[in-house]
Amino acid sequence: SKAKLFDENDNTKVTFKDVAGLEGAKEEVEEIVDFLKTPEKYTKLGGKIPRGALLVGPPGTGKTLLAKAVAGEANVPFFSLSGSDFVEMFVGVGASRVRDLFKQAKDKSPAIIFIDEIDAIGRARGKNNITGSNDERENTLNQLLTEMDGFGTHTSVIVLAATNRADILDKALLRPGRFDRSIYVDLPDLNERREIFQVHLKPLKLDENLDIEFLAKQTPGFSGADIANVCNEAALIAARKGKESVGKQDFLDSVDRIIGGLEKKNKVIK
Ligand code: ATP
Repeated sequence: SKAKLFDENDNTKVTFKDVAGLEGAKEEVEEIVDFLKTPEKYTKLGGKIPRGALLVGPPGTGKTLLAKAVAGEANVPFFSLSGSDFVEMFVGVGASRVRDLFKQAKDKSPAIIFIDEIDAIGRARGKNNITGSNDERENTLNQLLTEMDGFGTHTSVIVLAATNRADILDKALLRPGRFDRSIYVDLPDLNERREIFQVHLKPLKLDENLDIEFLAKQTPGFSGADIANVCNEAALIAARKGKESVGKQDFLDSVDRIIGGLEKKNKVIK
């Protein structure tokens, strides 16, 4: 079906305020916001606006959120697709999807295109060539390269792509004029976890004496997505107990449950 060709969200309300921590990454993408808002400022001296940037980092660290915030801050439409959607696609479908996506974005330019899990299409060519389905992946990748090269100098479409495996990407993707910048999005440190908690605690009814510093200390190695999950789960645990507000013990139970889940997930992967 054509229903989920790609997602377009014209008025994404996400802004930098929703992205906690990640100061370095935010600083780098601020430049992209500026390119989208005032391209003339840059092109008048003969420079070319960058076409793409890679957001590199572990799962759940806010890459998608950051890309949405770029669109939100620049007030431009956000088009997205996920590399993993292409894995089981019939011949020709992946390439035409990429073509349609770029066409729509160019029509609404300035715009952001976001490709999540780009490694699923962007793995180095000629590797793991065991199944025939790999040809389709290569077609899709080639189409993506063609589209990125085909932007006129006056089209302000910037492509952000996320990966946690930058090392396996086809080098052709990283050439000048394609994804020639990498922005690192790491797991949060103690301070950043505190800031992420602050964002995700905001919608909850909390015990008055709840210590955010304590929560941040209890969650080393957690991503932003894990922390969002901890907060939501704690609220559900408290509600199940019939409580009026969410307290320390609910968070500790929630952290235990999420650590249990993470351990299970890691076992499946190994
Ligand atoms: P993946 O690689 O798995 O696609 P990702 O890096 O794109 O993950 P997001 O999808 O952006 O991660 O994060 C998932 C959710 O986790 C966000 O919608 C948000 O609720 C929360 N989150 C992650 N990082 C942050 C952050 N830095 N600040 C606030 N919330 C965050």
